[in-house]
Amino acid sequence: MTNFDTVVVGGGIAGASIAYELAATRSVLLVETETALARHSTARSAATYVPGHGSAPLRALVAASGPRFARLEAELDAPPLLTPRALLHVAFDADGAAELAADLAEQAGEPGCPVAIDPAEAQRLCPALRPGAVRAAAVVEGAADIDAEALHQAFIRGLLRRGGKVRTGAPVTGVRRSGSGWEVQAGPDGNVIGAAEVVDAAGAWADAVAVRAGVPHIGLTPYRRTIALVRVPDPARLRAPDGARLPMVIETPERFYFKQEGDGLLVSPADETPVEPHDVRPDELDVAIALERVEEVTGLGLRSVRTAWAGLRSFVPDRLPVIGAWPEHPGFWFCAGQGGSGIETAPALAAFAAAVVTGGPLPADVPLDRAAFSPTRL
Ligand SMILES: Cc1cc2nc3c(=O)[nH]c(=O)nc-3n(C[C@H](O)[C@H](O)[C@H](O)COP(=O)(O)OP(=O)(O)OC[C@H]3O[C@@H](n4cnc5c(N)ncnc54)[C@H](O)[C@@H]3O)c2cc1C
Repeated sequence: MTNFDTVVVGGGIAGASIAYELAATRSVLLVETETALARHSTARSAATYVPGHGSAPLRALVAASGPRFARLEAELDAPPLLTPRALLHVAFDADGAAELAADLAEQAGEPGCPVAIDPAEAQRLCPALRPGAVRAAAVVEGAADIDAEALHQAFIRGLLRRGGKVRTGAPVTGVRRSGSGWEVQAGPDGNVIGAAEVVDAAGAWADAVAVRAGVPHIGLTPYRRTIALVRVPDPARLRAPDGARLPMVIETPERFYFKQEGDGLLVSPADETPVEPHDVRPDELDVAIALERVEEVTGLGLRSVRTAWAGLRSFVPDRLPVIGAWPEHPGFWFCAGQGGSGIETAPALAAFAAAVVTGGPLPADVPLDRAAFSPTRL
């Protein structure tokens, strides 16, 4: 039996990032079911960094992650991880405008708070919007596209440099308490690995892994979300002022969003369909809804879908991550429930989660305490 201080289950961004952080002080093995890492949610996101996104604890994680992306680039020889792209919240009716006003009021004075702009200014910044369609709008400073693949690879590179190990094609099929530690069964041959602690970063499957370990679940629900890449018949409509890239547009109350991708458009109906954890595929109806909603506010003539995919965003009921252990099950740590923010929060959340697991000091740039994400709050 091989032994490690920590076995991390799940090779998406959550597992890769916390494994990297923990490898600074521990021997770490990362195990992944698939034959390649990051095949599920991590490879299927819209990969957007949005200051001011989500509830207050998430906004704090997003804010703390911003400068950390730049530090990771230097630390892990990564290419630029963030590419600035303007982002507009846009309301197209009175209810949306009221909701947008309330969002701005809630965040007033916070760094990253969106700034209200005229509908005409929104149309100028995003000429793809149909003239007269915008009712209210706000622009987010500091938004960016994230190179999610490069970020994930950087964490894995850092893990390996710190002496950590990675095993793919190794589904965890059993987790048993053994003395004060754990025996983890992983891989087609059911190899047993000894570990002082287990980190459950299995994304949508985190509850399934917990149940296998005899640990109570955290009540995670995976929700399907769809993205389609569509052809734009007249790409000149995608030209923003001064040759800038078209801003990303998120409708308030988030019934769709879109952003330019080359000479096409990425569109999503911002769907949230609860499903069992699985290798999820897009539903044609969701793709059609996305096209219809974006077409209504742009008039771009969107008809032809180049490709479409779906991924899972997994939430517990309060929609905050779950970082911590049940007191009755010490040494089995959850790092799950990142929902729709797992990429943009990864740098700060991984540092926070590693401090929770090791009992070390919490990162000074994350103004949250250990209770904020503990499973005991659920
Ligand atoms: C359409 C869409 C758009 C999104 N847009 C954004 C965005 O703009 N910005 C943002 O920050 N986030 C976004 N997200 C959310 C983000 O993608 C997720 O929060 C993040 O990828 C979750 O990472 P993860 O590592 O927890 O999950 P995953 O990437 O799914 O990784 C979990 C891994 O665990 C493995 N696993 C499961 N069971 C076992 C087992 N028994 N043994 C071993 N391995 C196992 C799986 O095979 C999988 O590889 C979006 C998500 C979707 C679907």
